[in-house]
Amino acid sequence: MTEILTPSQLPVEGSLQPACDWRKALKTAIRSGRELCQALGLAASLGEAQAEQDFPVLVPHEFLSRMEAQNPRDPLLLQVLATRFELAPTGTTDPVGEVEATQMHGLLQKYSGRALIVSTGACAIHCRYCFRRHFPYQDDTLGKAAFEGWLNHIANDPSIEEVILSGGDPLSIVDSSWLEFVTRLNTISHVKRLRVHTRFPVVIPQRVDAAMLDWVARSEAAVFFVLHINHAQEIDAAVRQMLARLRSANITLLNQAVLLKDVNDSLASQESLCRTLINEQVLPYYLNQLDPVQGGMHFDVSDEVAHEIISGLRRVLPGYGVPQLVREVPGEAHKMPL
Ligand SMILES: *Cc1c(COP(=O)(O)O)cnc(C)c1O
Ligand code: SF4
Repeated sequence: MTEILTPSQLPVEGSLQPACDWRKALKTAIRSGRELCQALGLAASLGEAQAEQDFPVLVPHEFLSRMEAQNPRDPLLLQVLATRFELAPTGTTDPVGEVEATQMHGLLQKYSGRALIVSTGACAIHCRYCFRRHFPYQDDTLGKAAFEGWLNHIANDPSIEEVILSGGDPLSIVDSSWLEFVTRLNTISHVKRLRVHTRFPVVIPQRVDAAMLDWVARSEAAVFFVLHINHAQEIDAAVRQMLARLRSANITLLNQAVLLKDVNDSLASQESLCRTLINEQVLPYYLNQLDPVQGGMHFDVSDEVAHEIISGLRRVLPGYGVPQLVREVPGEAHKMPL
């Protein structure tokens, strides 16, 4: 007879001592460009404090440790350092039309069969290209009332087969809340799939702990995690161990990346990312063209370059290793393949 371990019995990495609990990792994160540059031995003038005003810098040390010191072009640094390029007035503040699609506080139903819950505005890291940097979040907690509202809405709409937890980052919310949510979701028989869009585990790998794996294991709906990894350098030994924990919890792992100028807009960079992902049993799902968000337009890559990269990937990788190149177009019934 095979012995089946429940997630709470799964071997927990040595690095998961309370001393580096994920909440503590968040508390001690870097919160200014000046501090970030200093930690990497770079001139503070590389950053722009004015650009931090509406969207502060936030970088946990776990992510910082994967950057190369004294390299102003480090692909991880470029994703998180606020610079003067953000002050450009181009782009819009609601590039994907989410404000309009919000049916009730935090629940968006733009696509057939799927309800997306914007559970929180909080994240483990602040990505400068983020399309939600201007989103009118009301508060950062999973309020009891919102929670009830979503569950009632889902229960009353049998067309909802899939519940997508998004944010911000849904894993900013404590596991006890998700455990309660999943327990209630299990009583709604038309919900077959639960999808979690998160960058948290990659930024702070110790987020995937026994408490998180416990509510995942209790879900009767099939669980998918869509990780947001933009560069192969984001995947270090701690991230590999974290991915092993997710795999052992029977979670289907997908990745969504954003095509970003100077970060990952070369064939070599995308090939290395996709190869690393499939070797870890994470399927590249989408490669998103940037949403035209104000403050993030300097990351924009032309469709021509995007197509060349995808054709290049097709030549060297198995079909399942090539992501779909998509763009979100407000008002369309699905993400638009390019
Ligand atoms: C992207 C997105 C989804 C999911 O789309 P998939 O193509 O199924 O990944 C659902 N709801 C909203 C609002 C989205 O932006
Ligand atoms: S983790 Fe996601 S939602 Fe949060 S800032 Fe980054 S891209 Fe935006």
